[in-house]
Amino acid sequence: MHILIIGNGIAGATLARRLKERGRGEELMVTLISDEAPYHFSRPAMMYLSTGQLRMEHLKSFPDESWDALGISRVTGHVERIDAEAKQVHLSNGTVLGADVIVLATGSRPNVPTGLNTSLHGVHTYTQMQDVAALDDSLKGAHHGVVIGGGLIGVEAAEIMATHMHARQGSSITSVVREHGFYGNMLPRFESQLVTRHLQQHGIGVRVTTTVSSIEDHDGDGRVDHVTLSDGTVIPADVVVVATGVVPRTQLAKDAGVTVDDGIVVDEWFRTSNATSFPRMRKSIIYAIGDCAQLPWGVQQTWYAGRMHGEHLAEILLGSDEPFCEPIEYNSAKFFDLEWSTYGRVPAESDSASSVLLTDTNDSRCLRIVHDAKRCVVGIHALGLRLRQSTCEQWIAQCKPLDHALEELRDVMFNAEFVPAFVGVAK
Ligand SMILES: Cc1cc2nc3c(=O)[nH]c(=O)nc-3n(C[C@H](O)[C@H](O)[C@H](O)COP(=O)(O)OP(=O)(O)OC[C@H]3O[C@@H](n4cnc5c(N)ncnc54)[C@H](O)[C@@H]3O)c2cc1C
Repeated sequence: MHILIIGNGIAGATLARRLKERGRGEELMVTLISDEAPYHFSRPAMMYLSTGQLRMEHLKSFPDESWDALGISRVTGHVERIDAEAKQVHLSNGTVLGADVIVLATGSRPNVPTGLNTSLHGVHTYTQMQDVAALDDSLKGAHHGVVIGGGLIGVEAAEIMATHMHARQGSSITSVVREHGFYGNMLPRFESQLVTRHLQQHGIGVRVTTTVSSIEDHDGDGRVDHVTLSDGTVIPADVVVVATGVVPRTQLAKDAGVTVDDGIVVDEWFRTSNATSFPRMRKSIIYAIGDCAQLPWGVQQTWYAGRMHGEHLAEILLGSDEPFCEPIEYNSAKFFDLEWSTYGRVPAESDSASSVLLTDTNDSRCLRIVHDAKRCVVGIHALGLRLRQSTCEQWIAQCKPLDHALEELRDVMFNAEFVPAFVGVAK
């Protein structure tokens, strides 16, 4: 059997390795195609290349030689078209590859708002490896940076700019955020404002509840020199990063006649609509995993979900009949030096009726425990604290009562020495 995987991000790479580690050696051919990088790398760690804290070899989770050792064929090239009937993929260099199973692990692409002049020199997105060198080039000698968007990538872009520009006399970095604060569509208001204050303390000028209406080149040299906000404010800009979200990369699937909604529609066995040709066999020719896939409960655009998808699809392709069940959501990141982690369901609308918020005395760190109507824990959220992942997931999976969680706070805190300094303030 030949399994051809398009995309060597965490979803595709995990699938390829799992298949070969657990599969039937020679009988199973696995080909991994990428138009971005010959070897899998950690996308969440990409920013550390831009800040100079890591080098490319540090971003690779596996030694280069391990791919050949496992017998995984790697192809660098862009897939232009899938012919589902002929079970072939066509690359832009003319190569045609045949397969028994085709897995789409094509990830996400930037969601750039229409109407902004993003073709000017100095204007970037930041999702692909190629963006690292391009942004690095624009940051040389730049004094004024603007980030459009207050999500995870927006915070990272501001931090990258700060690393390069803060030492320069008269420099400015401005983040333009449509919501009331950073990550305002994901984080509850208190946490969003805490992150906003944290960025301000790191010298980032934050403009909230406003948008960029134009990106302009005043002197006609093709380089950006300012942006104008919707309230008419003009902000100087030598570099602009457009970080207004990402959307699943679905065009290949759409062109192949596979059903696409927000993402590539799949069932709990990661089968696309192509599976209708043999529905009772729980088999398909085309599957989709990772950021590009839309499961029955929605699109999950996190690194951790991509890894789980890859692991689970490997088992299915090796013969398992087990459906993939909705996992307890998990994500973590760092906003400058502020650690963030979230488990389960933590809606942006969480308030004192649906959650308990604990903060330290100067509101610089916090822990929120979200509960349902029966006061069972359904989500946990922390800023500036390290939590024990296994305990958080256990509390949520076992629907532990809120009172138990509050009594056992020490169990969840990674840095136990911090607990006595932690003043509980319900908000
Ligand atoms: C800057 C940044 C920071 C992030 N930080 C975090 C974080 O802290 N925590 C977290 O959980 N998530 C984070 N994410 C999101 C996380 O990286 C993604 O959820 C994850 O990488 C998705 O993995 P994937 O395998 O589905 O796709 P991807 O990693 O996007 O890989 C898809 C691959 O497919 C290739 N491809 C697509 N189309 C074709 C084609 N036609 N032909 C050939 N190759 C093709 C792409 O070029 C790419 O290499 C971050 C993302 C970015 C950009």
